Amino acid sequence: VGTGKFFVGGNWKANGTKESVKKLVAELNDIKFEDDVDVVVAPPFIYLDMVLNSLTKRIEVSAQNSWVGKGGAFTGEISAEQLADLGVGWVILGHSERRHVLGEKDEFIGKKAAYALSKGVKVMACVGELLEEREAGKTFEVVFQQLKAYADEVPSWTDVVIAYEPVWAIGTGKVATPQQAQEVHEAIRGWLVDNVSPEASAQTRIIYGGSVNAGNCAELAKKEDIDGFLVGGASLKGPDFGTICNSVT
Ligand code: PEP
Repeated sequence: VGTGKFFVGGNWKANGTKESVKKLVAELNDIKFEDDVDVVVAPPFIYLDMVLNSLTKRIEVSAQNSWVGKGGAFTGEISAEQLADLGVGWVILGHSERRHVLGEKDEFIGKKAAYALSKGVKVMACVGELLEEREAGKTFEVVFQQLKAYADEVPSWTDVVIAYEPVWAIGTGKVATPQQAQEVHEAIRGWLVDNVSPEASAQTRIIYGGSVNAGNCAELAKKEDIDGFLVGGASLKGPDFGTICNSVT
């Protein structure tokens, strides 16, 4: 069972305009969050500075990706040192859209995580199986292999939050049942004991992502190994995101 503080991340993906981001920031600034939840939002790169300058300090800011190493001649990429320079504290890595739409591989993602951590940028490390992998009974195998790719590269898990996001549940409205999520979270907790350390297992937050909304968060949050959420669609609505953050039990 984890001992970490409840954690909710909002992944805005490639959504928003200056106008809508301004409105969302105003909604977020109005929310009264419970004390025992860490809240982080991940706007698109181009709005990071604007959000950092207008969002309440109660909420931390994350990027949605970072380059695998030191910045330089990598057109279209953003380096971890640039994120740190701006004051961005977190980065989402290994998201299923980057794995399965952009073709990022486990080893590359593991290296990105290590590099971001080396620059003081904390990592939301995503893992999760495809529907066909679940149906073939390969969920644990896939998730463990993704975890190993991070473990092979990162020197410490202190600044890492693991996001379990079954791909079939992301953006589909098809949420994992609390039991399905708990089962994988518990397995991840066990994998950390066996492959990293009992301390890392107890202290690393394991959050669930995949069609979490204001209506289903409370049931999921009750599960003992669910330490929070990574939220896509519902993070674009301030009041709904507030409800999800405050589902901490
Ligand atoms: C995500 O992209 O991380 C996610 C969980 O999306 P959604 O909540 O929209 O399923």
